[in-house]
Amino acid sequence: MMLDKFNLSGKVAVVTGANTGIGQGIAWAMAEAGAKVVGVGRSDMTATREYIEKIGGEFKEVMADLSKPEKAQEVFDNCLACFGKVDILVNNAGVIKRHDAQDFPADDWNLVINTNLNTIFFLSQAAAKYWIANNMRGKIVSTSSLLAYQGGIRVPAYTASKHAVSGMTKALCNDWAKYGINVNAIAPGYVVTNNTSALRADEARYNAILERIPHGRWAQPADIAGAAVFLASEAADYVNGITLPVDGGWLAR
Ligand code: NAP
Repeated sequence: MMLDKFNLSGKVAVVTGANTGIGQGIAWAMAEAGAKVVGVGRSDMTATREYIEKIGGEFKEVMADLSKPEKAQEVFDNCLACFGKVDILVNNAGVIKRHDAQDFPADDWNLVINTNLNTIFFLSQAAAKYWIANNMRGKIVSTSSLLAYQGGIRVPAYTASKHAVSGMTKALCNDWAKYGINVNAIAPGYVVTNNTSALRADEARYNAILERIPHGRWAQPADIAGAAVFLASEAADYVNGITLPVDGGWLAR
């Protein structure tokens, strides 16, 4: 039946950046849909764990600094060890650095590209190798951004990384669809998380953004989570290579 195709019971979902914000919202939603969840990150994930256990789910965590792409295979192997398999990889962790482009420091450029792009590629590669070797289907869902479509202001590394995530999503679809692997991304609109705290602190920018959102409000992490569950589920088996905007209509303006 149709609703069964959205059910993730029996699946194991790895979610990076699961301690807070959109990643926490996605981790909770994956558990609500029935998946066991492995949270990956560098910060305490107690709040994520507590809710999942409260609803009768299972949660394990892997501590990792995701700015180090050379560690991606080890991180994936540690995730695999948690529940003995991985079915879904949610590449959500990301970082934003704001500087005028002419003064953008090399270390921040490299941090953003390593975290938002390079680690995502090598985690996805580790997952695909595992699925292909084990003749398993797999789902990859990455968090892209509206800055995969637009330039943004004072965030050239972030914009470059998110354009690249959406482009890479298409490329990986083309290479891996034949193995039963779906590679998709979500482009959230403006969400109330740590990522946007500086933006929200600037009242003029906050209001200018708010005024442009057809839905008339900023998003909460839970607004993004349904799309992640859909793309991770059997209901999306024929959806591949897309970036799905979840933006309250922003791109329609
Ligand atoms: P957030 O609350 O700042 O979450 C970012 C997550 O990434 C946190 O869990 C953070 O861990 C983790 N992370 C960053 N660098 C890491 C590293 N080196 N190692 C391990 N974990 C690391 O903001 P968010 O909005 O939920 O961001 C989640 C994703 O959504 C990001 O990819 C972001 O670019 C994207 N996004 C956000 C918006 C928005 O409006 N908020 C819009 C479009 C796209 P710590 O808590 O330890 O820093």
